Amino acid sequence: MTEGKKIVLKLGGSILTKKDTDDFPTEIQRIKDEGDEYIRYYVIRKVGNELKEALEQDNIELILVNGAGPFGHFLVKHGNPDEEVRESVRHLNNRLVSELKKIGLKVVPIAPSKSCEFTGGEFDISYLWELTGTLLEEGKILSTYGDVLDGGKVMSGDDLVVMLAKEWKADKIITATDVDGVFTKDPKINEDAEFIGCLGSDSNGNVEYATNDIDVTGGMAAKVEKLKSAAKQGIECRIINGLKRGNIKAALLGDESVGTLITS
Ligand code: ADP
Repeated sequence: MTEGKKIVLKLGGSILTKKDTDDFPTEIQRIKDEGDEYIRYYVIRKVGNELKEALEQDNIELILVNGAGPFGHFLVKHGNPDEEVRESVRHLNNRLVSELKKIGLKVVPIAPSKSCEFTGGEFDISYLWELTGTLLEEGKILSTYGDVLDGGKVMSGDDLVVMLAKEWKADKIITATDVDGVFTKDPKINEDAEFIGCLGSDSNGNVEYATNDIDVTGGMAAKVEKLKSAAKQGIECRIINGLKRGNIKAALLGDESVGTLITS
C-alpha cells in the first residue's frame, strides 16, 4: 500500500466541550457523574462522521489530539491535585474515544502522563512515539490529549500536536477550534475583527490576541507560535472552525479555502 497523507488533527477543547463555564464540578466523582453536561456529543459525532468519510475518500493516516476544555483548565486553576486532573482529562478522552469507536473508527487512546516525561526543561515523547509507530503500522488511529506529567508539568494538546507532527514528519497539522481561524482581534469580542487567510512573520504585528482567564496553556497566541515552529519544518499548518459542518472533512481532503494557513 502506498503511504497515505500524514495528518495530525487537533480537536480543541473549545469545540468538544463547553469551555467557558464557571461552574464545572471539582470533585472527581461529580465530574464522572455530571461531566457529560459539559461535553458536546453532537460535535463529537459530527467530527467522527467527517473523519470516517474523509478516510474512505482518500489515503490518509491520522493522529488525533484533543484539548481538555474545563476538564483540565478548570481543575488546574482550581488547584486540584495532579492525579485528579489526570483522571479528569482521561475521562474526557475516554468519552471521545468511545463515541468515535461507535462510528467505526479504529481509535486507540494513550495517556501522555503514562508515556511522556518532562526532563531537563524539555518534553520527552520518545515512548509515546514508539507506541504510536506500532498503532500506525496496524492502521489504527492514536488518540492522545493535553495532560499533566509527572512532576506537575502541563503538556497541552497544542504542544503534543507539534511534537508528534515533527517526529512523524507529517504533511499537515489541522487545528480545529471554535472560530474561523486567526483574526486581527478576538472575533468573539470584537465585531470589527478581520479574518486573516495566511499568517506569517510579516503579518504578526497586526494581530491582537485576547487572553482569557480559563485557558492555562496560552490560548490562541501560544497556538500560533507553536504552529509556526512546525511550519518552519515544512509542515502545512491550518487553524479552522471545527464547529462548521464539513470543514474538518474539507481540510482533511486538502481544501485550501478553509481557515487560516500559518506559515513560518
Ligand atoms: P481550543 O480550546 O480550541 O484549543 P483556544 O480557546 O485555545 O482554543 O483558542 C481559541 C480562542 O481564541 C477563540 O475562541 C477566540 O475567542 C480566541 N482568540 C483570541 N484572540 C484571537 C484572535 N486574534 N483570532 C482568533 N481567535 C482569537
